[in-house]
Amino acid sequence: MPDYIDIHAHVNFAAFDADRDEVIRKTLEHKTWMINVGTQKDTSLAAVELAHKYEKGVYAIIGTHPIHTHSSFHDTEELGEGGKEFTSHGESFDYDFYLKLARDPKVVGIGECGLDYYRLTPETEKKQKETFEQHIVLAQEIEKPLMLHIRNGSSNGEAGRAYKDALQMLKAHQGLRGNVHFFAGTWEEAKEFVDLGFTLSFTGVITFASNYDEVIKNIPLTMIMSETDCPYVTPKPYRGKRNEPLYVREVVKRIAAIKNLSDEEVREVIRNTAMKSFGLES
Ligand SMILES: [Zn+2]
Repeated sequence: MPDYIDIHAHVNFAAFDADRDEVIRKTLEHKTWMINVGTQKDTSLAAVELAHKYEKGVYAIIGTHPIHTHSSFHDTEELGEGGKEFTSHGESFDYDFYLKLARDPKVVGIGECGLDYYRLTPETEKKQKETFEQHIVLAQEIEKPLMLHIRNGSSNGEAGRAYKDALQMLKAHQGLRGNVHFFAGTWEEAKEFVDLGFTLSFTGVITFASNYDEVIKNIPLTMIMSETDCPYVTPKPYRGKRNEPLYVREVVKRIAAIKNLSDEEVREVIRNTAMKSFGLES
């Protein structure tokens, strides 16, 4: 049984090319497990292949990130320099490819999928919604939980719109399960997801910004999970370094402090929620 589980990591990304296995071995030695999340076909496949290198403690989630439904900016942390590794090319969701991959026992969820309105045109919004809908159908068919990525737009009138649209789409289906990764909405939106049975996960952002303290205080501890979203958003006291799954403990500690509970209790409850949500066996 691990102490901690980083339920949303990207050790499958190019940022870990030089020392991937070393990072994973060190993480597992410290009783910390991880789920690597895909963002398009190649990074999803890489997450599954990586999971198979370890007997246990490394799992995969597969799908198409909403920004990769159209050709997006090229993130070298994710895809490598100049496209020598992976390239962002705008993918149409290949249902059969993902269905086959989703049957793999190391695959514990579908995503990251959802809506990202940060850089948006009417055309890309339509494509994002269609793609998200296909992930929902796949999650139902394969009976695995969804890993949601939802990001609001930054302009006037965009406040909360991505969260509202996502909730509306999810409510049109019965019996869905899942987690909202990197939750950045309001308490009212958080409550709606929790009422639907969705958990929320938080990153290292909560160690250096207090924007989400109210949400964390209010939602039941049993509906919270911990993640790093590494290589991004490194928690305190490691700011300035590349993030990695081992640092998920800083997120758990901060949740305990915000909720005014013991580190031990929070660690156990959050670990148990992740084991159960993703069907992990110790
Ligand atoms: Zn991610």
